[in-house]
Amino acid sequence: MYPPTTKSRANEDVLSSCELPPPSPSDETKTWVAIKCFNNRIFAGRLLNYENTKDMSEFFKYKEKLLHEKIDEYLSLHTLIKVAIGIRCDFIIKKSDTEVIDAFHFMLNLQHYDQTTEFASWYNDSLNKIIGRLDEFQQRGSNATLDKILCLELNIAKFDPMKGGTYIPLPKSVNDDSTKNEYYSYSGPDVAKWFVTKLKEIVNSIEEIYEIIIPIHMTEENERIFQSSTMCHICEKPFLEGQVKVRDHCHLTPLKTPQTSNFRGAAHESCNLNYKTANFIPVFFHNGFHYDFNCFIREMGYA
Ligand SMILES: [Zn+2]
Repeated sequence: MYPPTTKSRANEDVLSSCELPPPSPSDETKTWVAIKCFNNRIFAGRLLNYENTKDMSEFFKYKEKLLHEKIDEYLSLHTLIKVAIGIRCDFIIKKSDTEVIDAFHFMLNLQHYDQTTEFASWYNDSLNKIIGRLDEFQQRGSNATLDKILCLELNIAKFDPMKGGTYIPLPKSVNDDSTKNEYYSYSGPDVAKWFVTKLKEIVNSIEEIYEIIIPIHMTEENERIFQSSTMCHICEKPFLEGQVKVRDHCHLTPLKTPQTSNFRGAAHESCNLNYKTANFIPVFFHNGFHYDFNCFIREMGYA
């Protein structure tokens, strides 16, 4: 037979030589052989070539079902994943007057994989890439000839997107004038600068709204409620003798029709005076961690 296996790095695509037990008919042929996971890998395993085929397309066909099932299993758990496949093969390497057998590993790059990914075309793409790598390796003067396909490997990693946007519609009770509810998003250079500029723009437009004080408009029903009220709608305490009862109204609600009312209720004069529109605009950030929002805070310093 051949002399003992040597280690070599003949090609930059070849990550490492590997030591792998030869597939034998006694192997658990249909199950995954686990490989140690590292970094953000959530699965790493190999399917041995117990069919002993030397044809890469045929080999891929044999393993298609198991591989598809494994990817689907992790996709249902994580929604967004990255996957990569690779193969390990034995090559016969000619060296002057002798031949050695060496094992080589060809691994493709991790690719995003989600519910919209079409397995069949992704798998076929991967097969073509692997065949391309093998051809290239054999033609690069490495004097290597494929001897045996050892196994197919699958790596699955968690995919953490670096950007994301979420738009949650306001509840109807808050969003009574839907034209004021708008969604903005931006990705590109100077994100913090864009954000702060946009924020200033929004704040200015809100300030304009605050400056227009819409006069009170009451319906007959409002007036009836006002006259019969015995309790202040702001502090929820009764009107005592000597206290002035006033009509409280919202200064911002636009009067779209003659029937529109902006009356809020009967109130103590003092409560009504204290019940002012806020002179600040609340801004909420969520889901941050450590210095996530540092860039915005710093940018606000320049605004
Ligand atoms: Zn009151």
